[in-house]
Amino acid sequence: MKALDRFKVVSGLTVNTNKSHIYFCNTMRRTRCDILRSVNFKEGTLPVTYLGLPLITKRLTRAGCAPLIDRIMARVNSWTSKALSFAGRLQLIKSTLVNMQVFWCSVFFLPGSVIKECVRMLRTFLWGQSKGKVKWADVCKPLKEGGLGVKDLRLWNKALLLKQVWNILKNQSLWANWCHAHLMRHTNFWELPVRGPLSWSWRQMLRLRMLAKEHILYVCGNGERFSLWYDPWLHGQSVHALYGHRVIYDSGLGCHARVKEVIWQGAWCWPTVSVDLLDIQQRVQVIPISTEQDRIYWGTRGQDFSTANAWQVIRTPSTEVSWHAIVWHPMRIPKHAFCLWLTLRGAHKTMDKLMAVGVLQSDLCVFNCGDRESMAHLFFLCPFSASIWTEVLRKCNVNRTELQWDEAVAWMIRNSKGDKFPATLRKLAFAATVYHIWLERNRRCFKNCYLPM
Ligand SMILES: [Zn+2]
Repeated sequence: MKALDRFKVVSGLTVNTNKSHIYFCNTMRRTRCDILRSVNFKEGTLPVTYLGLPLITKRLTRAGCAPLIDRIMARVNSWTSKALSFAGRLQLIKSTLVNMQVFWCSVFFLPGSVIKECVRMLRTFLWGQSKGKVKWADVCKPLKEGGLGVKDLRLWNKALLLKQVWNILKNQSLWANWCHAHLMRHTNFWELPVRGPLSWSWRQMLRLRMLAKEHILYVCGNGERFSLWYDPWLHGQSVHALYGHRVIYDSGLGCHARVKEVIWQGAWCWPTVSVDLLDIQQRVQVIPISTEQDRIYWGTRGQDFSTANAWQVIRTPSTEVSWHAIVWHPMRIPKHAFCLWLTLRGAHKTMDKLMAVGVLQSDLCVFNCGDRESMAHLFFLCPFSASIWTEVLRKCNVNRTELQWDEAVAWMIRNSKGDKFPATLRKLAFAATVYHIWLERNRRCFKNCYLPM
């Protein structure tokens, strides 16, 4: 404690005993008690957490992720999901819950079981205990591809860790500097072996190299920065990966040679003492040399790394849906948009579906038209809905014949482009009508309550 008191006098920083912990390892119980009495700190348990994250060198276990899962659980339980609309729950998932996980993802490679657990919590929060109206994989697709744009944790985890690979290659953070000084020493990042006493997180980082290499573009300039043998500047590969160690030996240039050593007066000038070296001299002719610095880009020339872009290139895109713009326009009313999204995905549990799985005995339309209730019927074909559409179209000054559901959606896509007032009004009216038909149908189904016509 004397040392800490001196530290306080010198630095002006006081140790807060309430917030300080002391950690023991292989210490006798009596000694532990004596120390605890004299320092007045609480005894802490490993791992130590910093900014809410455990500081570990070993593999991150499920138990290590308990703080993350507990925090999400606490947050989820503090909001009563039943009291919120789907749109409200979605907003909370996107703004808060996913971000809590993304924070962890930016530091660790999360174990599969933890990702599964997180997804399960988010899914239950969105849909309740039921199976869910839309598959989670579809929920995680971007809006344009018919999803809700929730971040897919597995992919985001990779994209966020690729940023760390990028930082190492560009040597642009304190951590990257530290990696260069202590973990890589003078070895090229691409050549570091994944063996020996490496920390678990560093090992994960090294394993991401293959993926990173597919998207990182090395553009030669004056050749001062790139390693001649190990950086993948030769059509996306390194000379060492293509020709092995022999060319290094034959060239006599040494392992630490830079690309500039085979450039002479603005032209490629490889030592031509072996067949392989002659071959390389041929292959590099198409690579232009300049007086600029060597640069690396992400994806395409001129592009810096961004996590969003990394996510974009490592995922498998789905085909775009034509209707996304009529749902997710800037003026949308969130709960109407969510209902319309479910409708366009065919995800509402209409009577015909419930009867097919044996939940209901009858699938008669609740609007008493005598027909069966299906999506197409409920939202368009039913005389009740048709009368509402006629009125809505009249109020929007739209003069067209009545259409079936698919045709009506296609009409909307064609005729409500842009954000001018009539287009926005049509989109708002379209979503509101769908929402209110669904609401009225549910009122009649579950509450036996009828709105006056
Ligand atoms: Zn009907």
